[in-house]
Amino acid sequence: MRGTPRGRMDPWLSPVDRRLLLVFSFILAAALGQMNFTGRPSRNSFPWLPLPLPCFSRDQVLRILAKDEKELSLLRDLEGLKPQKVDFWRVPARPSLPVDMRVPFSELKDVKAYLESHGLAYSIMIKDIQVLLDEEREAMAKSRRLERSTSSFSFSSYHTLDEFSTGGSQRPAIWIDTGIHSREWITHATGLWTAKEIVSEYGKDHILTDILKAMDIFIELVTNPDGFAFTHSMNRLWRKNKSTRPGVFCVGVDLNRNWKSGFGGNGSNDNPCSETYRGPSPQSEPEVAAIVDFISTHGNFKALISIHSYSQMLMYPYGRSLEPVLNQIELYSLAKDAVKALYEVHGIKYIFGSISTTLYVASGITVDWAYDNGIKYAFSFELRDTGRYGFLLPATQIIPTAQETWMAIRTIMEHVLNHPY
Ligand SMILES: [Zn+2]
Repeated sequence: MRGTPRGRMDPWLSPVDRRLLLVFSFILAAALGQMNFTGRPSRNSFPWLPLPLPCFSRDQVLRILAKDEKELSLLRDLEGLKPQKVDFWRVPARPSLPVDMRVPFSELKDVKAYLESHGLAYSIMIKDIQVLLDEEREAMAKSRRLERSTSSFSFSSYHTLDEFSTGGSQRPAIWIDTGIHSREWITHATGLWTAKEIVSEYGKDHILTDILKAMDIFIELVTNPDGFAFTHSMNRLWRKNKSTRPGVFCVGVDLNRNWKSGFGGNGSNDNPCSETYRGPSPQSEPEVAAIVDFISTHGNFKALISIHSYSQMLMYPYGRSLEPVLNQIELYSLAKDAVKALYEVHGIKYIFGSISTTLYVASGITVDWAYDNGIKYAFSFELRDTGRYGFLLPATQIIPTAQETWMAIRTIMEHVLNHPY
């Protein structure tokens, strides 16, 4: 095992300092209380409040199935009208894809009135986000107690972080990153289980063993560390990193819009308050710059897999335009095989294709950068589910999700092994 590329990640903090920072975050959270999504005071903030807490209406996730481009643009307007108030979990993309948005309690009435006045039919996907958040925290606390009493690490719970080599240097390599968007907790957990699977199946799984004999696998589990700590300490639904700039009120850059390829194009935002804020310049963020540095210096990466959630999709470049990549036929057929292998594990269906045609046009993204820099096998996953729980996927789904995702990843790796370039 070697360390993750932390060269330029955070020049000020040693690993020990980082741990201290994390501990400090938790202490701060205990003192200030986690942001809740009920429109009522958090029990952590006001422990003296009598139980049960007064009942307020609560934050909801609404789903809209837009019929056409006109309806989609009415939904996009909603983001413009109420910056930071409507949190799109699935952005308005194309009529065939649902739009999911979290609406804070304080905005529910207005937002529903807006939808109704424009004839946009909606359904309530999550009636009360706080119920899911409370369940998630309870499951984590229970798992922590169990792990302490049995001294064993549980892969089937969310935790508050590598790579593997059988020897040699600068061998052909495969990059996997999880958690570039901090609220996508299923991705970190899947990455961790995958790391365990790779280590424990080496020498047993013939295909994996052949892959590891020829190639190195690098996994960055917490690609957005400050954002991840923040999802544990203050706001479970934080997506961006935590960078601040003098004179800029809003915090954070969308690390999947900060890459050089197509930087500043469609599907990224120059408003620092937007959830898809691209940052002031390409690779301005240390989390992105560190990976660019590491992959470029290494110089022999053959595949890159960037893992997100949710929507159940497997995609390849480009995101920035509808233009097909040179090996699009090969990538399409490989994605098809990977999705089939995934389906065979637990019967979960994924859609697949290029990012711009399957999801939406998005510029400055990881996989476009990888492809433009000579990594012709570049894939992006959107893991479970399709919206029942969204980012709050219960921990009971971690292992099945990881198991099925692994079969898709293994399919891609096997193809890379058999198609050297
Ligand atoms: Zn994401």
